[in-house]
Amino acid sequence: MIQKILNKKILRREEIITLLQAEDKNDIHAIFQKADEIRKKYFGDEVHLRGIIEFSNNCEQNCLYCGLRKFNRALSRYRMNETEILQTAKKICDTGIKTIVLQSGEDFNFSGEDIYRIIKSIKSEFDAAITLSLGERDFEDYKIWKEAGADRYLLKHETANAKLYETYHFGQKLYDRVGHLNYLKSLGYQIGSGNLIGLPHQTIEDIADDIILCRDLDVDMASFSPFIPSPNTPYKKQKPADVNSVLKVMAVARIVLKNVHIPVTTALATIDLNGREKGLAAGANVIMPNFTPAFYSDKYSIYPNKKSDVDPMPALRSILLAAGRNMAEGQGHSLKII
Ligand code: SF4
Repeated sequence: MIQKILNKKILRREEIITLLQAEDKNDIHAIFQKADEIRKKYFGDEVHLRGIIEFSNNCEQNCLYCGLRKFNRALSRYRMNETEILQTAKKICDTGIKTIVLQSGEDFNFSGEDIYRIIKSIKSEFDAAITLSLGERDFEDYKIWKEAGADRYLLKHETANAKLYETYHFGQKLYDRVGHLNYLKSLGYQIGSGNLIGLPHQTIEDIADDIILCRDLDVDMASFSPFIPSPNTPYKKQKPADVNSVLKVMAVARIVLKNVHIPVTTALATIDLNGREKGLAAGANVIMPNFTPAFYSDKYSIYPNKKSDVDPMPALRSILLAAGRNMAEGQGHSLKII
């Protein structure tokens, strides 16, 4: 049954659910093997590294699962200034990494023009692609940032279940999130979306719908992260996601989505010391090391004990070597636009 599904080109919802429900050791092995084959077919053994700069932990939203939520008064807030952001971008580029990810909460203290200026400066000084991960912003901002040279926008939908979406994100609607993603795509951004696995009330069917939504949105990158309960949030007492379930979702997503970039998330590396190695074996082809200065990074606590290295490169090189993979040299644009 599983093998029959794995031999198909396009999978229906029920088939995706069957793969996600697989428990038998041989079936799971076959799923991981297929995911690895597909990853190799499209991306070879190259792993794209994207250097993250978490430049502000301020956020206007109140997502129930997130330690950066506005109502978390216990969190000490910070904003990096433009000089610090550029210095960190230089540090990333000095390692040979060719994508800079500018990440923050929904922080409107950084105006559209501020971000425009930062993108322009990075683009004029470095040979690097820029991914923005700044939450939902004004459509006009997306437009000027694209004109400034931004290449990609990461905006996870978190759950494709509209009811759960409204539960987790007070006052927000899935319909709007999808609207933002479609608009970003229409502007020429390479878009990334994805979910959180293990959230309260989520079902296997919901996760199948998350993968299908990524397919329907025709994303360039899809990210599947484990939920980790964060103190000072309404979900602080909930159970964290199970590592093996997350790996299975990544593998099934690779089988369904084929040529999209799939990262090993920092959250996976946080809940499992060997999370990066395991993620690479489950269909991932991207790692996103964090270059935020340690003084700030500790405060970017979406969840506790976030994996963070002073210098992530030595560990990454040994992980790639052990996995028989190598660091990609280019900017790692979407295969869909090449
Ligand atoms: S998940 Fe994003 S938008 Fe929601 S509270 Fe956290 S940083 Fe803000």
